[in-house]
Amino acid sequence: MAKKLSIITHPNPILRKKTVDVSVSQLADQTFQAFLDVLSVTMKEADGIGLAAIQTGELVSVAVVMMDEGPMHFINPKIISYSKKKQSEAEACLSVPGVAGTVARATEIRVQALDRKGEELLFVAHDYFARVLQHEIDHLNGILYIDRAEKIWDDAEKKKKA
Ligand SMILES: [Zn+2]
Repeated sequence: MAKKLSIITHPNPILRKKTVDVSVSQLADQTFQAFLDVLSVTMKEADGIGLAAIQTGELVSVAVVMMDEGPMHFINPKIISYSKKKQSEAEACLSVPGVAGTVARATEIRVQALDRKGEELLFVAHDYFARVLQHEIDHLNGILYIDRAEKIWDDAEKKKKA
């Protein structure tokens, strides 16, 4: 497998597709585990804080997020509940170069997912982490942040992208 993948950009129609859940046997496959590694390398080399597999053209329900401890993979992530409270903050996307925009997102979400070993995860994400996960899980459903943005502007600055 390649050492890193290329990131597809808007308006590539692949970004509008829905991804498919990963099966337990697929997750256990060595080739798939190698793909997860390449996905996190791709995110790091792009200086991203998150990356969904669909952004590399793979229609599987996988996202990787840069945590304090390093990249963490979320397999088949689903948001079970959202806080009523929302906050508007700037976002940028590796698949939508050159712009940034403000998006109102729930400040707290409850998430169900599998880790890369297939262990079930159930956790509450807050603030910035909640925002990155909502951005990534939108990708898995063919949604881009520019669909939700209140305001979009040209931004050549090297902002953290997801
Ligand atoms: Zn993105």
